[in-house]
Amino acid sequence: MGNLTSQIMTAVDKLYDEQVSFLSELTRYPSTRGNEQSAQMFVADHLKDRGYETDVWNVEIEDIAHLPGFSPVLGDYENALNVVATHKSRSSTGKSLILNGHIDVVPVGPLEMWNAPPFEPYCDDGWMYGRGAGDMKAGLAANIFALEALREIGMQPASDIYIQSVVEEECTGNGALACLQRGYRADAALIPEPFSERLVHAQIGVIWFQVHLKGIPVHVSEAGSGYNAIEASIPLISALRDLERNWNTQERKHPLYHHLDHPLNLNIGRIEGGDWPSSVPAWCCFDVRMAVYPGQDLDAARAELEDCIYGAAKQDPFLSKNQPEIVYHGFLAEGYALMDHDIPDAGQAIATLESAHKTVTGDALESLAVTATTDARFFGLYANIPALVYGPHAEAIHGFNERVDLESTRRVTQSIALFIAGWCGLEEI
Ligand SMILES: [Zn+2]
Repeated sequence: MGNLTSQIMTAVDKLYDEQVSFLSELTRYPSTRGNEQSAQMFVADHLKDRGYETDVWNVEIEDIAHLPGFSPVLGDYENALNVVATHKSRSSTGKSLILNGHIDVVPVGPLEMWNAPPFEPYCDDGWMYGRGAGDMKAGLAANIFALEALREIGMQPASDIYIQSVVEEECTGNGALACLQRGYRADAALIPEPFSERLVHAQIGVIWFQVHLKGIPVHVSEAGSGYNAIEASIPLISALRDLERNWNTQERKHPLYHHLDHPLNLNIGRIEGGDWPSSVPAWCCFDVRMAVYPGQDLDAARAELEDCIYGAAKQDPFLSKNQPEIVYHGFLAEGYALMDHDIPDAGQAIATLESAHKTVTGDALESLAVTATTDARFFGLYANIPALVYGPHAEAIHGFNERVDLESTRRVTQSIALFIAGWCGLEEI
C-alpha cells in the first residue's frame, strides 16, 4: 500500500469518532418530508464552518416542473431546502465530482414497535440505531468526512467537488432534479446509499398514483340500494396484482433482472375511505406504488396501468358507470442502468471505485441490480453523468429499529476518500 493511501486511511480512522458524533447529531433531526429544514441548516452550517462556499435554496416547483424526470407533487414546497457546498480546486487537473446524499427520511410508523425513540440515536455493539441513520445520513456523513480526511493530511481534491444534501429522494427525487436545474454538473457522481459496500449497476423505476372511488352512501340497513366504495377497491387491486405477475414474467424482464424471481413489486401502501361504521362508505382512496425496468417507457407503463384499472372497473356494473379517478403524485421515476453510459468516464469511474474498495476491504467490488430507485437516475439519464451508488451496510431501513453498521461506514468513508484521490487527484492545501 502506498504511503499516501495509508495516510488517507489513517486520517479517516483518526476522525472517525468525530464522524460518528456528527452522524448521531444529524440523525437526531426528524427530517421527514416537509421537516428537513433544521437538518439542512445543520449540514449547511457545518459545511460553511469548514470554509466551503455553500448554496442553500428552496426547491420551487415552477423551476423544475418542465424538466424530464420531474415527479408531480400534491401540495406546495414550503421548507424544501437543498444544500450544495462547493470545493474549488486551484489546479483543476483532475476530474470533477458530485458527492450526493439525501436528508429526507421516511415516516417512523407506530412508535411502540421501536425499541427506543427513532430520533434518539444510540450506538450498541457496532451499530448506530435511529430512523435515517442508515438511509442515508451515514452516507452523507461519509461524503463530508472523506473530504475531511484529505484535509487532515494537508491535501484537497485537484478538481471541483459539489457536496449535495438534497430533499425529496424518498418520494419524487425533485431535490436532485433541482440541483441539475441550478446548473451543478460534474464528470461523475457518487451516492452512498446503503447497499452493503456493493456497487449498484442498475435500479428500477417507480410510479406512484392514487385511485379514487366514489360509492353511494346509504344507511347500512338499506345496503342493497347503496354502493360500498371500499369494497369496490378489491377487484381493482386484484387486477393490479395480475398486471404485476405479467410484468415479472421472464419475457418481460430486463436482462439485468433475469436472475431475480420477482424484481418489480406492487405495493398498496395506503388506503382510506368511509366515514361511519353504519354508513355504506361513499368514498375510498388507495395509494399504489409500482416498479418499472430500466428502459421501460414511463408513458407506456402508465397506459398499461390505467388500462388495467379501467378494464377491471368495466367488469363491475356500478364502476363501469362511475369510473375510478387516477391521480399521479410522487414518483414518476424511470429505471437506470450504469452500463448504458457509452462514455469512457463511466468505465474509469467504476475502475477507480473498484480499486479503492479493493484497497480498503481486500475484496473485489461486487455489483448488483436493485429493486429500488435512487437519485442516481437524474445524473445518469438527464445529464449523462455516470452515477455510482455505493454505501455502507444498514438494516431495517424503512422498518423499525433501523440501524447502520459503523465499521462498514468507516470502510465506505475510506473507499470514498481513496476514490476522490484517484478520480480528482490531490493538491496541497
Ligand atoms: Zn435512501
